[in-house]
Amino acid sequence: MHRQWTREDQSFDAMLAAARRIATEVAAPQAASVDAQARFPTETLAALREAGLLSAGVPREFGGAGCTLSQQAQLCSTLAQACGSSAMVLAMHYIQLACIARHGQGSEFFRGYMQDIVQHQYLLASMTSEVGTFGETRMSICAVEREGGRFVLNKDATTGSYCAHADAILVTARRDKDAPSGDQVLVLVRREDCTLTQTTSWDTLGMRGTCSPGFKLESAGADEQVLPGDYADSSAETMVPYSHILWASLWWGIAADAVGKAANFVRGQARQKPGTVPPTGARLSEVVRQLQDMKQLWQSAATAYDAMVTDDSAREELHAMGWALRLNNLKISCSDTAPQLVHKALQIVGILGYKNDSPFSLGRQYRDSLSGSLMISNDRIAAKSAAMLMIYKDVN
Ligand SMILES: Cc1cc2nc3c(=O)[nH]c(=O)nc-3n(C[C@H](O)[C@H](O)[C@H](O)COP(=O)(O)OP(=O)(O)OC[C@H]3O[C@@H](n4cnc5c(N)ncnc54)[C@H](O)[C@@H]3O)c2cc1C
Repeated sequence: MHRQWTREDQSFDAMLAAARRIATEVAAPQAASVDAQARFPTETLAALREAGLLSAGVPREFGGAGCTLSQQAQLCSTLAQACGSSAMVLAMHYIQLACIARHGQGSEFFRGYMQDIVQHQYLLASMTSEVGTFGETRMSICAVEREGGRFVLNKDATTGSYCAHADAILVTARRDKDAPSGDQVLVLVRREDCTLTQTTSWDTLGMRGTCSPGFKLESAGADEQVLPGDYADSSAETMVPYSHILWASLWWGIAADAVGKAANFVRGQARQKPGTVPPTGARLSEVVRQLQDMKQLWQSAATAYDAMVTDDSAREELHAMGWALRLNNLKISCSDTAPQLVHKALQIVGILGYKNDSPFSLGRQYRDSLSGSLMISNDRIAAKSAAMLMIYKDVN
């Protein structure tokens, strides 16, 4: 696709309006078949490309919309109210894009690649997981092997969302074959640089449209495709905050979809007895309150992050324990809360929510929301928080 975006196309209001339209007109009608067939949400991704939403996070100087993290979270939460898998694909793409946008600007190759993302609306996937590292993203077994300005990188990943549909994958690896497991870099592997061999299936409870089986990656490319700097920094300053905040926003979107259905159900009951509030109304008011609390959590974290990254003197704060704890708490809270809210919505709707073929069906939302606590295990994150709290004393 070769398309020039105008300033109007790239205004946040236009992008949000496009996300709302795509959610309603494309993602929602396709969501049941994406879920049932565990297929990639092709139609939604085509619509996102067509609207230029895949370059929302590219800075304006490279032709993108320069959307902040708060704005990207709004886009993801909007799409999640129609299809959790589509929103997860968009969020994971934005996370990878942010790593390039925030850490690749010193590289001619990555400056050019950002312009290519705008022009071609490339989709980026992620390969942090690896057979043998057990869900620990800050450790790699595979290594980048460099010679004569070229690299070779082979990785056996346990889970690789939509890798078979992406234009490029950002892969974590040890810096070189002598580097310790925690000395990692991020490498941009384009479709034409690699072969992917699927090693496992993706027949899951939820998030079925993310198409995330295991893959063996074999790749080779030019040295310039290694993102400058340490992954330790891009992880702490960008990948972790973007992941936890964008994921939280889309889990909220899934819960909001369920609560919206519950609200419609209660209003339907009210219409049958005008002038009365149905008994389910009390449950509805409680779940709406909790939904609002959840929204505050990711919105305030996104606002704090956007303020920190526009202030050079605040860069250190992104590495501070207080901020790491806040992000861990956000991730654990929101991933725990989302399925609880869907569960409460189900109690309100009753059997019509339990049925798969009813307009009030909540099965997909329930199953999708269960992935949150596993997607980087909450226990693993809680263990890291516990270790920090042995040193960090400011628990307020
Ligand atoms: C929808 C979805 C999409 C994904 N997409 C991608 C992707 O695109 N790319 C990618 O690389 N990965 C992806 N992942 C993988 C993800 O990032 C994690 O690597 C994976 O979910 C962790 O798998 P695990 O549960 O086997 O690992 P672990 O984290 O090892 O957890 C296994 C078990 O050990 C427990 N445990 C672990 N550590 C501790 C601890 N310290 N204390 C107590 N208990 C502990 C956990 O609670 C769990 O019960 C995706 C996962 C999901 C659900």
